[in-house]
Amino acid sequence: MRIFDTHAHYDSRQFNGDRDKLLQALHGGINPDDITGNTGEETLEGNTGTGGVPVKRIVNVGADMASTRTTLELAGQYDFIYAAAGVHPDSAGELIWCPEKCLKDEREHNNTENNLAVENNVEDTEEEDPYKGITEEICTSNREELRNLASQEKVVAIGEIGLDYHWDIWPRDIQKEAFRWQWKLAAELNLPVIIHSRDAAEDTLNMIREFYMESTGNDVSYESLSGGKRQERPGFPRAVMHCYSYSPEHAAEYLKMGLMFGIGGVVTFKNAKKLKEVVDMLPMDRILLETDCPYMAPDPFRGKRNNSGYLTYVAGKIAEIKGMDVEEVYTKTWENAERFFARKGNTYGNTRGSEKNDRNT
Ligand SMILES: [Zn+2]
Repeated sequence: MRIFDTHAHYDSRQFNGDRDKLLQALHGGINPDDITGNTGEETLEGNTGTGGVPVKRIVNVGADMASTRTTLELAGQYDFIYAAAGVHPDSAGELIWCPEKCLKDEREHNNTENNLAVENNVEDTEEEDPYKGITEEICTSNREELRNLASQEKVVAIGEIGLDYHWDIWPRDIQKEAFRWQWKLAAELNLPVIIHSRDAAEDTLNMIREFYMESTGNDVSYESLSGGKRQERPGFPRAVMHCYSYSPEHAAEYLKMGLMFGIGGVVTFKNAKKLKEVVDMLPMDRILLETDCPYMAPDPFRGKRNNSGYLTYVAGKIAEIKGMDVEEVYTKTWENAERFFARKGNTYGNTRGSEKNDRNT
């Protein structure tokens, strides 16, 4: 048995204290609780705990320009870590210049800052504003840099990209343009896409339908669920709905277009009724295991720092929902991830089915 964590953020500062120790332990199949000091086994009925299932591959995911760079550094340090390069909708303004917001908010920002400084005679200690200092030239050079970073050999996907109407940090047309530009980049580089979508169900489905129509000439409504099994659609990249949170009806539409579904800690939550329905209806060859760590820890660690070892709880829940052995969940999701991220001519493709380049083996 082995685990493939298809979505992690180990470059997060939350791992600064024990990153190497934790990653080595996970890769060696050591119970991460021994490293983190967390305990949760006592609440687990019938689950053997987190030890013993080595985490043999991890895809670390970029969320903006800075974390795409740190993701690539991490992938350079560990043979078993691969990289996804991309800009999350919350940072869409790094790629697509938004004069309305950047110019207006910059003025407001300067005014507020000056007033505060005069009134309180203190330095502004607020977090940096996302728009601060972004110019059209910076966006252009960021796009060029992203293309270069995404062309590096350990990059196996473009992501995470998409729409986030929960935080709505950037205007929706800017988010859409950043999503579209990066989707085209994935098609151009022949890389799969990791999609982030929150509170944006309709627009996300409509955009992906548009991409599908543009590249295949087919209206998705005429595709069958099994028709979606066709792997090759020139110009339409493979894609995964990361942390899928929408309805079974929408899941059916994504199935028709051949998309995968990232399933993580949420499926273990008691109130995740809709997601459990989705997992129940998904064919086993469409599921990828993902943590989104340090976020989204499963029960019984909800709210704590997550890590790839806790995917044992997610796999256990999937097995329970689908009435299958957990071993089969590990096998299937491993094969799915291998197939999904495999790319001809890169290091990843060359090491498929072999652990010879992995550390500690
Ligand atoms: Zn993420």
